[in-house]
Amino acid sequence: MDREQRIFDNWALFACVRLAKRKGVGVEIVFHLDAALFRGTLRQLDFACKSLAEAAATAHSIGIPFHVIQGGNTASDIGDFVRGRDAKILVTDMSPLRSSRRSKSKLAETIEIPFLEVDAHNIVPVWLASPKLEYQAATFRPKIHRLLPEFLADFPEKESYRMGEPLSGNAIDFKKILREFPIDRSVLPVDWIVPGSSAAEAALPKFISERSAGYGTLRNDPNANAGSDLSPYLRYGNIAPQRVALVARDSDMPEADKAAFLEELIVRREVADNFCWYSPAYDRFEGAWNWARESLEAHWDDPREFVYSREQFERAETHDSLWNAAQTQMAKTGKMHGFLRMYWAKKILEWSENPETAIAIALYLNDRYELDGWDPNGFTGVMWSICGVHDRAWFERPVYGKIRYMNRNGCERKFDVGRYVATWTG
Ligand SMILES: Cc1cc2nc3c(=O)[nH]c(=O)nc-3n(C[C@H](O)[C@H](O)[C@H](O)COP(=O)(O)OP(=O)(O)OC[C@H]3O[C@@H](n4cnc5c(N)ncnc54)[C@H](O)[C@@H]3O)c2cc1C
Repeated sequence: MDREQRIFDNWALFACVRLAKRKGVGVEIVFHLDAALFRGTLRQLDFACKSLAEAAATAHSIGIPFHVIQGGNTASDIGDFVRGRDAKILVTDMSPLRSSRRSKSKLAETIEIPFLEVDAHNIVPVWLASPKLEYQAATFRPKIHRLLPEFLADFPEKESYRMGEPLSGNAIDFKKILREFPIDRSVLPVDWIVPGSSAAEAALPKFISERSAGYGTLRNDPNANAGSDLSPYLRYGNIAPQRVALVARDSDMPEADKAAFLEELIVRREVADNFCWYSPAYDRFEGAWNWARESLEAHWDDPREFVYSREQFERAETHDSLWNAAQTQMAKTGKMHGFLRMYWAKKILEWSENPETAIAIALYLNDRYELDGWDPNGFTGVMWSICGVHDRAWFERPVYGKIRYMNRNGCERKFDVGRYVATWTG
């Protein structure tokens, strides 16, 4: 288990269970916690451990042993585990992120048994949705929509994952892991969201029945609580995007709101996986589209009105109260409003020494504070804002080159900036 920290609605685990039943062997789940690879702080570790604790309890309830290995080398630790168990086959879920792919490639070189990778995250597996890096959501959308009738199907029943009677004992001490895991403890967990699959499954219908009407227009208003807030659950795989899409599709959400929500959940999210899967430079300036790279290079040394250090950004010490409020919302709650994430990242471009530094600062802050950080959506969001990924060229201007510009006046026209600033820094 890697990215998909849940038991049911999990195509990777389902494939494993089906193979095991066919061969008449058992199934065990193993998750590897590597301090060097775990990105984030106590805030994200708390979410991950609580998600895993629920996944472990659920696995045990259907007769599947669940293990967590803490160690410094995923490939060799899992390799040892596989050999120690005399395993017949290894199945993993897919993550398009470099660290995960590297470990899995190394692991594949060291084990002798078949090793399967299942995309249990995307509704249409990333390698089937498109065989190449997609230039824009517009080029990706028709490909996904063509395949949805086949892939947006019902999941197998929960009972079909059962491997035996409930297991007793073998409880993993997640509290001890949380206490002792070597990690930056300066960013604290938050309490507005409960980690884990049960909470995710409860949050989805609550969003649909109580807050989804108006999503299509209100989602761009940072004062309105119009988003689903599902991104941390999706980030940790507590709930399958396919489940969210099925429930939303079959709900009585107003049609325009439903369409807008499914566009974000399916097209925008899956095109982000496409970007990270096919672009090795998904977190670097080299990953910019050609037009954007050329134009940012031409403006590399433009004088900046303000230049802030990473620490000044982190402490929300810019001259702009709106930017500071957005940074504060993220630092306090672990979730910045989606509309402001674009403004926030573009201003980091405007007020940093150069675009390369801007990408590094934006990703550092995003992945340190956001509960949903270290996710393809985050890498793509930063690269969209700063490097034109999935966007088109706009009018040329200083510093930005042809990158789409955003300013505070534009925000003032869209929502009550004073109210937002007062909420977070007032
Ligand atoms: C600079 C920047 C950084 C970002 N960092 C992250 C991040 O670290 N993790 C993360 O999950 N998202 C990130 N996003 C994308 C988006 O802002 C969040 O997914 C969204 O705000 C999450 O809130 P929600 O779950 O209430 O979204 P909703 O509006 O309810 O949308 C439902 C789901 O659709 C997907 N989605 C929505 N908007 C986008 C988008 N623009 N791109 C891709 N998928 C989307 C998400 O999975 C989201 O949970 C970032 C965007 C930008 C511009």
